Amino acid sequence: MSAFEALGLSAPLLQATADMGFEKPTEVQAKAIPLLLESETDLVALAQTGTGKTAAFGFPLIQKINVKSRNTQGLIIAPTRELCLQITHELRSYSQHVKGLHIVAVYGGASVQGQAKDLKNGAQIIVATPGRMKDLIGRGVAVIKNVEYCVLDEADEMLNMGFYEDIKEILSHTPNDKSTWLFSATMPKEVAAIAKKFMHDPQEITVGNKNSGAQRVDHEYYLISARDRYLALKRLADANPNIFSVVFCRTKRDTQKVAEMLIEDGYNAAALHGDLSQNQRDLVMKSFRTNQIQMLVATDVAARGIDVDDITHVINYQLPDEIETYTHRSGRTGRAGKSGISMVLVSKSEIRKIKAIEKIIQKEFKAKSLPTGMEICEIQLLHLAEKIEQTDVNAEIEPYVPAIMESLGAFDQETLIKKIFSVEFSRFFNYYKNAKELNVPEVGNVSAGGNSTRFFINVGAKDDFSWMTLKDFLKDILQIKDDGLFKVDVKGSFSFFNVEEPHVKRVLETFEDFTLDGRRIVVEATTEKRRKGGGKRFKDSGSKGKQPRTRKSDKRRGGKFNDDFSNKRGRKNRSGNKPKGTGGKRRRR
Ligand code: AMP
Repeated sequence: MSAFEALGLSAPLLQATADMGFEKPTEVQAKAIPLLLESETDLVALAQTGTGKTAAFGFPLIQKINVKSRNTQGLIIAPTRELCLQITHELRSYSQHVKGLHIVAVYGGASVQGQAKDLKNGAQIIVATPGRMKDLIGRGVAVIKNVEYCVLDEADEMLNMGFYEDIKEILSHTPNDKSTWLFSATMPKEVAAIAKKFMHDPQEITVGNKNSGAQRVDHEYYLISARDRYLALKRLADANPNIFSVVFCRTKRDTQKVAEMLIEDGYNAAALHGDLSQNQRDLVMKSFRTNQIQMLVATDVAARGIDVDDITHVINYQLPDEIETYTHRSGRTGRAGKSGISMVLVSKSEIRKIKAIEKIIQKEFKAKSLPTGMEICEIQLLHLAEKIEQTDVNAEIEPYVPAIMESLGAFDQETLIKKIFSVEFSRFFNYYKNAKELNVPEVGNVSAGGNSTRFFINVGAKDDFSWMTLKDFLKDILQIKDDGLFKVDVKGSFSFFNVEEPHVKRVLETFEDFTLDGRRIVVEATTEKRRKGGGKRFKDSGSKGKQPRTRKSDKRRGGKFNDDFSNKRGRKNRSGNKPKGTGGKRRRR
């Protein structure tokens, strides 16, 4: 008996799970499906998008529909057109072997006549956004007096968007004895109030922590001065060459402005907000989905329901007014089993909000520093080296090789490499050589104080290091305690870290001739030194000068950060102790 069969699914649905390659139920499915199939109950389910919640209500709903009747028996209400279409698409896949089932999607921004016609042809399940549903009820086209199952999906988002009255109105047209299944990522008091008002003795299931954000998302904040917000955003983008992100702004105006500035500075960016026409929004989303856009600058409302699985970073350009909204923002990354980072640019006056958000997501933020201009140059250069190493030679270049050889053939290998790299390096270097320090020292943050040296090391995420495991590994090998080693930044195939001045000699000696799993480990001091009192090595360039153009990466990496470092024992490891655990209190990178 398959795992899905054990939940009580019928043969046509089991066939669909096999067709779709679902091997085993997700947690929310394992909890919800048997419950909903076996009993006529109301349900409150706390589950994020990406947990398989659509199937958790979709399979039982489809199985319970009487396809012989043309009456509308199931109604699903969702906050956005995107989500509405996505649910409809999923339900059609789940019911591909169920004959005679009609699912109709009704949502704003499309012809109401077409949707009315679809409804008149009969729909046992309607998937709707609140506004359009109300409209169609008003026109007498949508008849929901026989509805037996009503699903409120992403209830917290619907309430955030001000749909309470619409939902109340829609539900007033449904029978009292229907079952209501409410799905929500968070449980603010407004959702609890809806559950109380519209539901009878609901069963409750929770996936992961109540009110918590996705577990695979790391949360970071960067303390900056409010006037440097845009410069800081660019540094985050430049320090992450493979970034594929949603940048959240508070207003439509800021969204448009930031997107325009990014485009002008050569980034693959676009704005997504409510002042765009539906057509424009569809085009932007299409470009984003196909990775043509690396930075999608969006308002909270417009970004609702964005269902793109491989978003690497969410950047909170500004924090939302309602801190609950942060959960929705960060939930756009860390989907479909991938890890993600939610970054917040925060000014001193907003820092207390971080504490409040930590309470909601039940996770700690990492206090991080923006990379310096020179660190970014280094990252970009090494990224280019990595890209060149991984690029297959294109056979179509062959006819042009003689001409290229004629102009470049006289240079020796090293000169040629230096010249090629200078093309990329000079653009970043010229922009960043006078870049100012953007980090605002945090009270009690030791890294902002004493003298330290920043090092490069040729291991990174590719070697299954996360910043925490690399930090533990280095501290263990170097025998550095407490805060003597910090600012560990793990990139693809390399990383950076800082040590306080007294440890510098030991770093150099330890890694002079060091192998790890038979591989030579290279550790070098970077050019930049941090001085007490923010002594700047580089002068402030403000935003003058053209930003070097970041290019869209050819391929994004899955970013699997494995914390297993048990075999990362170097030749010079003297302690023999196992590196310490990675959980617990806030740590300085
Ligand atoms: P959702 O949380 O409903 O948005 O689902 C996220 C994605 O996971 C969708 O693309 C589903 O098709 C997929 N999915 C749902 N259930 C399973 C499962 N049991 N195994 C694998 N993928 C699933």
